[in-house]
Amino acid sequence: MAYTCQDCGRESETAHTVTIYDATGVEDRLDVLCPECYEEWLLSIKHG
Ligand SMILES: [Zn+2]
Repeated sequence: MAYTCQDCGRESETAHTVTIYDATGVEDRLDVLCPECYEEWLLSIKHG
C-alpha cells in the first residue's frame, strides 16, 4: 500500500507519521510524510 505525503503530495511506499503541534504546544493533528519530508521535519524541530 502506498501513502500520500501530506507535505509534498507524492506517493511513498514507506511513510512516517508525525504529530504536529499548534503554536501553544497542544497536539494538533497527525501527518503522514514521505522519508524526504520526514527528514526536513526532523531538522525543523531540532532547530526549533
Ligand atoms: Zn513529502
